[in-house]
Amino acid sequence: MKKAFFLDRDGVLNVEIGYLHEAEKTVLLPTVAEAVKLIHAAGFMALVVTNQSGVAKKMYPVENIMEVNARLQRLLMAYGPDALIDGWYFCPHDPEITGECDCRKPKPGMILQAAADFDIDRGSSFMIGDRIHDLHAGINGGCAGACLVTTGFSEESNAKHRQAALADGFPVAPDLISAVKLLLNAG
Ligand SMILES: [Mg+2]
Ligand SMILES: [Zn+2]
Repeated sequence: MKKAFFLDRDGVLNVEIGYLHEAEKTVLLPTVAEAVKLIHAAGFMALVVTNQSGVAKKMYPVENIMEVNARLQRLLMAYGPDALIDGWYFCPHDPEITGECDCRKPKPGMILQAAADFDIDRGSSFMIGDRIHDLHAGINGGCAGACLVTTGFSEESNAKHRQAALADGFPVAPDLISAVKLLLNAG
């Protein structure tokens, strides 16, 4: 079986601007390319699991999610093929509009689907996100651990989620590469 790092997208891989859906506004965060390379060098897959309720809210179509993902892959490709993301999952739902689903984080549906698709041992895998619900999705999905990164939407948002993560016993890291190293050393 394989193992994976499940990664939130917005505020983890790219700058979080709120409902990002335009490829040309997609900006890679620092350390992300080398973090994905480290994930691969350590024998893990890098799989993105992202809530995209903007689809349910009719703010943008599913195609725009794909365009942002493709833009991220192109930006990562500049660092070499080992910097590429191995799989992309999104939840297009909003519970108040489309009803409850199994995939919107903190629910583990995307992690369960990815694990089934790629034959991943979830108990040897990790989750990294910029919001507390990302970390709970990881634990709900049976991951060995989860880490917060403080590269999210705003200082206020990062402080709020940092506090929530620490209160729930999760580690906190300043960027993606630090989070990957921290989880690899803990595991
Ligand atoms: Mg996020
Ligand atoms: Zn969903």
